[in-house]
Formats: sequence, structure tokens, C-alpha cells
Amino acid sequence: FLSLSLQAKMSRPVQAQRLEGIDKNFWVDFVKLAATYSKANLGQGFPDFPAPDFLTEAFTRALSGGNHMLHQYTRAFGHPPLVKVLAQFFEKLLGRDVDPMTNVMVTVGAYQALFCCFQALVDEGDEVIIIEPFFDCYEPMVKMAGGTPVFVPLRPNPPKDGKLMSSADWRLDPAELASKFSERTKAIVLNSPNNPLGKVFSRGELGLIAELCVKHDVLCISDEVYEWLVYDGKQHVRIASLQGMWDRTVTVGSAGKTFSVTGWKVGWVVGPDRLLQHLRTVHQNSVYHCATIAQEAVAQGFQRELMLYGKPESYFVQLCKELQQKRDWLVQSLDGVGMKPIVPEGTYFLVADISQFKSDVPGVPSSDEPYDYRFAEWMVKNKGLAAIPLSAFYSKAHKKNYGNFIRFCFAKEEATLKAASDILQKWKQEKTS
Ligand code: PMP
Repeated sequence: FLSLSLQAKMSRPVQAQRLEGIDKNFWVDFVKLAATYSKANLGQGFPDFPAPDFLTEAFTRALSGGNHMLHQYTRAFGHPPLVKVLAQFFEKLLGRDVDPMTNVMVTVGAYQALFCCFQALVDEGDEVIIIEPFFDCYEPMVKMAGGTPVFVPLRPNPPKDGKLMSSADWRLDPAELASKFSERTKAIVLNSPNNPLGKVFSRGELGLIAELCVKHDVLCISDEVYEWLVYDGKQHVRIASLQGMWDRTVTVGSAGKTFSVTGWKVGWVVGPDRLLQHLRTVHQNSVYHCATIAQEAVAQGFQRELMLYGKPESYFVQLCKELQQKRDWLVQSLDGVGMKPIVPEGTYFLVADISQFKSDVPGVPSSDEPYDYRFAEWMVKNKGLAAIPLSAFYSKAHKKNYGNFIRFCFAKEEATLKAASDILQKWKQEKTS
């Protein structure tokens, strides 16, 4: 027995090399901290209000409505009713023909859509340009595919008139962006509206990116999961609709964000067959298939939205209106206590400057942890308010430069937002008294 157990003990490294350096993930720590300590959780990006009735009713109908085949596998690359309605929707949005069978693929959330993109399109040695700050999984996903991330920052240009900063004040430097493109560049990742800043890229900015993609024959992975959450009458422009871009763009979306059901994990990719055929290979040989009932319900949700497109009863219109009010409320509340908000043009996130609160939260001098990590951890443990450090959305080399901000999610019930605001007001009073 003894010799057998000695033999059974493995001494070789078990971890695949491609996981080196990406095995630590801040979400694990922050989700746990929020679950343990938070009285108001404005951290992770999910709504705490109910999903729309028409969608949950569609789910219940799919579950027990008599079509027992909805409990079985459906088409691997997407349940036919869902890919059909997504194709109809995107034909309208992109102003071109979209074939449900070859130009749309359904995935397990936008996460799996992104994973398929990187695995299918990025090779060993390829460079992938990522605009900072970025949704954090892009970097490890590029690395797992063998690629090298190349970062280019959105640079803040503070307004001179004493107004609050807007996410539109964070801009790419055109020359800096152009300098990142080379013959090694395979793709650029675009996320508009952007998590965490809420920046909605303008037509001009997208035009610049498109021009560089065409010039250098580069692909665009466009993460548009917040496509419906754009405020103040601004317009979300889809880069795939710009000249020369359809053929080189994959557009990623999420029912979780679109219909406030992040737990359902239904996402999709829309793009040309010449790209999607390779994503299908990854999907087929990894996940293969997504839950049929959730796809059926999301299909019905989209059918409703297609009928009500642009009308006041549309959920997309209503959710956006409600979230804009929540944004305005949180902006006012943060501004009132001196935690200066950067007003987001889109998404349900808001980044705020913590400089005026720093004296209460000493940094650890010897630690290489960015200051905002320490601040966010202290805040949830001592004040019960959960938020996410902005530096989590930067590459390792640049984290230190952005340690003065935290990100709040405002897709929350009024009571949650009020609780957060009360905590901050009390904190502010304690500081001044
Ligand atoms: N992209 C971005 C920019 C996101 O913020 C998120 C979710 N936080 C996702 C993709 C993943 O979406 P899903 O939940 O549909 O997998």
C-alpha cells in the first residue's frame, strides 16, 4: 500500500504553462468580500431588481408549456427561433443581410462568445490590441490563446470649466493608437459602451479604429453587451456597420445585460461566415450547446422587442430610461459627498474619484497592491459599501497609475442606492465633524 501511494504521488508540474500568471483573479476575492461584509453591494455588474415579467413568463411557458422537446438538445450553434430573431434584429441594426444559420452563433453568455473569438482567431505570437481600462478577462483570454496583449490607454482630459468629468473626456490618442498596429497585430478588442468607464465611442473614434483595421488587415472583436444602455439621447454606433468592417468584425452581445438576467448566461456573436465558421469549431468542441429553455425564452423576449422597436413600451427603451435616472441620482449623491463621479454616457457603471476619502484609509507602504484595492477592501469591511477598484481593469504595468478610482454598479433597486448614499453621507459627516 505504502509503495503504491508513493508511486501515486505526482511530482511533475500539473498546471498547463498557458495558465502561468493568470491564475489569480480579483473577482474571487471581491465577490467573497461583498458577500461577507456588504450592506449595499454596488460591486459586481448585475441588477438586483427583477427581470421583466414578459421574459420570466416566457421562461415558465417554455419550461412547462407542453413542448417537452424544449428539455432536450437543440441546434448546437443556436436554437433556431433565437438565431432567427437575432438575425432579424441585426439586419435592422446593421442595415445589411444577416443569415441566421451562418452569421449568428449563440453562446453561454458573452463570456463564452469572447472565449470562442480568441481561441478561434488568435495564434501563438499574434498581438491583440486592448484599450485600457478593459473588461478584465480579455487579457487572460488572449494569453490562453497564445497571443500577446498590447495595451493602449484611454487618456483622461479633465474639463477646464469646473464641470464634472464625463466618460467622453477619456480619449484615445490617435498617434498612440496607430503606433500599436504592426504586421504582428491580429486583432483589436473594442468594448463600447465600455465597462468600467461607461464611455460610448463616437462615430469619429470608431472611424479611426476602422481605418487602422483596414489599413493593417486586422480583425475587430467588438464587445457590445451594453448596446442598449446609452444615455442622454446619444447613439450607439456598431463598428460592424462602418465601411469595410463587416468582413473583419465579430460583434458580441449578452441577454444577461439586455434583459437583466445575467444568471441565464445566454450570449451571441454576429459576424461574417468566414470568421464565425472558426468560432463554431471551438464551440462545437468545447461547450457544444447552450440551455434550450433559456434560449427559447430569450427568443420570445426579442420577438416582443422587435415588435415594439423604438416604441415607449419597449423594454430596451424603458430600462435605459430607468437606468439613466439611477445614474443621475448616484452622480448627484457622489458629487454631494465629494467622491467626484465621472458621468458615464452608457452601461450601468460609474467610476468615481476617491481622493477626498483617502486620508481615512492608509495604504500599506510596502505592498505592491494598488491603493484602490486597499481602499475598496477597507470600505466594504468598515463601511459595508462594496465597489470595485478601477485598477482591476488595467494591465499589471499600468495598475499603479490608476489607484485613485473605484467603480460602482447602479443597476440596483432604489433602496440599495439609497443605502449606499446614506453610508457615504454618514462617512462624510464623520470626517467633517
Ligand atoms: N463583456 C463585458 C464588457 C461585460 O461587462 C460582461 C459582464 N460583466 C461580459 C462581457 C460577460 O457577459 P455575460 O454575463 O453574458 O457572459
